[in-house]
Amino acid sequence: EIGPRTVRDAIFTWVRPQTVKDPELLAVSSAAMRDLGIRPGDEKSDDFVDTVAGNKIQGWDEERREGGYPWAQCYGGFQFGSWAGQLGDGRAISLFETTNPETGVRYELQLKGAGLTPYSRFADGKAVLRSSIREFVVSEALNALGIPTTRALSLTHLPHEKVRRETTEPGAIVARFAQTWLRIGNFDILRSRGDRKLIRQLATYLAEDAFGGWETLPARLEDPDKPTESPAPQRGVPSDKIEGPSESAENRFARLYREVVRRNALTVAKWQAYGFMNGVLNTDNTSLFGLSIDFGPFAFMDNFDPMYTPNHDDSLLRYSYRNQPSIIWWNLVRLGESLGELIGAGEGVDGDKFVNEGVTEDQASELIARAEKLITQTGEEYKAVFLGEYKKVMTARLGLKNFKESDFDQLFSELLDAMEALELDFNLFFRRLSNVNISELESEQARQDKASVFFYQDGVTGLGGEEEGRKRVGAWLEKWRQRILEDWGDGSSVSEEADVQRTEAMKKVNPSFIPRGWILDEIIRRVEKEKERDVLDRVMTMALNPFEDSWAGREFDGKTYDGDKEEETRW
Ligand code: AMP
Ligand code: MG
Ligand code: MG
Repeated sequence: EIGPRTVRDAIFTWVRPQTVKDPELLAVSSAAMRDLGIRPGDEKSDDFVDTVAGNKIQGWDEERREGGYPWAQCYGGFQFGSWAGQLGDGRAISLFETTNPETGVRYELQLKGAGLTPYSRFADGKAVLRSSIREFVVSEALNALGIPTTRALSLTHLPHEKVRRETTEPGAIVARFAQTWLRIGNFDILRSRGDRKLIRQLATYLAEDAFGGWETLPARLEDPDKPTESPAPQRGVPSDKIEGPSESAENRFARLYREVVRRNALTVAKWQAYGFMNGVLNTDNTSLFGLSIDFGPFAFMDNFDPMYTPNHDDSLLRYSYRNQPSIIWWNLVRLGESLGELIGAGEGVDGDKFVNEGVTEDQASELIARAEKLITQTGEEYKAVFLGEYKKVMTARLGLKNFKESDFDQLFSELLDAMEALELDFNLFFRRLSNVNISELESEQARQDKASVFFYQDGVTGLGGEEEGRKRVGAWLEKWRQRILEDWGDGSSVSEEADVQRTEAMKKVNPSFIPRGWILDEIIRRVEKEKERDVLDRVMTMALNPFEDSWAGREFDGKTYDGDKEEETRW
């Protein structure tokens, strides 16, 4: 019997998934199949189903006892700001790594809900169907929106696994994959144990294996206020690779730290721009690859409310929408502290001599001072990269070609304040704005009339909105119109053709479908209670194609969300 256990001197443990009877494959993501290089149709084979259910271990020869073997990671974490000790993959088991031959991208395939591991602590190693449906859908939805995330390949129902929570619930397994599953918590646990050798080894692995090698890691930004553009994070592709100042060159671990920081800054910026909230941003739920990871009580923003947290236990609003950027930075400081000895070691030293020898007090304080300075500097970059990306995405969402300094207050902040005051739906606003023609906004009266499309009390097309609210939105529409005229026309007019182009561009960044809490609840109810299966395929078609005209924003399968506060979502 495997039970709660402290695992020392190791970053993972070999462990095999529990075998299960009659696994039922409920859904696969076609996008995931493509990205992994699996041929369409292969998901119908027994081999596929046995693998994603944990019944077959690919590459392991049982007779000879050789080949690849599954493993679970050891990590710790700061939960709600407090050190929680050893956590680890308590219900996740990684099966193998696989490289897509066409893209060259390597992924680690992992099963969530596949049974006990040494890290299960006092829990059962299982996952329930409802949280598995939520993770499966949101992983692929985020990816389709262009937000870096761990992915989901398949959702498997386990008819004979009855999982005890508040009630007894059906069990499930999500087969998921990521370029790496490493998180800040992997370093936290090593630091808490003073395991400097493994910290160095893991950092080296991260740089050489997960990222594309030391040479791809960025040096310090010369001017944090002018971050250059960064490509989407991908294995082997450096995020912004910028030449550093030649004097005060930093060591490679400092560059590794910077890479992790930048990737996370880019991802949080996208969360903020799309109203995505993770809900439990503990250090064990913060990816070293800058991925959205660990989907518990997550939510997309409905009516804009910066204080909103989807986590009912989060009474201090630590993980609210508004706090996400600062909380991720808080987590990244913990990482900086774990790497402190390595990043503080200075040019050419790389911490080598401190790893196996004792450190004198003088050396230690010098290192710490240097590491602290470097973490502070990197914090400036975090802010700059975050802001640069946030502005970029918001500029695109508003249909503008260029960001102007005045846009921040006059367009972004004014809009968000109005949305909050008027309780407007965040993502719906952008989609509906995409479909507004500039020619419809020429008089004040026309703008106020148009403003009513953003209020939805009277159903999907809504004629709602108090006069004052319509005036406020109408006034904002005038500022927005002026900026569109500037960016797409000559400043005083815009051609119909250019305006159509603007509309098309906006619809490519403003989704008509996001997996809202009520939609996920509806799907869970229908899959669990009504035994429906097709509904999963329908929601996946929407999640994988979130910018199509066909989806009606507040509608799913003929049902319309009426704007009342949702019931509590269980996760
Ligand atoms: P989470 O809240 O999902 O980030 O999980 C925190 C820790 O609890 C991680 O170490 C998980 O692996 C572990 N954990 C959560 N649920 C279970 C479960 N049902 N069985 C075993 N471990 C679990
Ligand atoms: Mg977690
Ligand atoms: Mg979780």
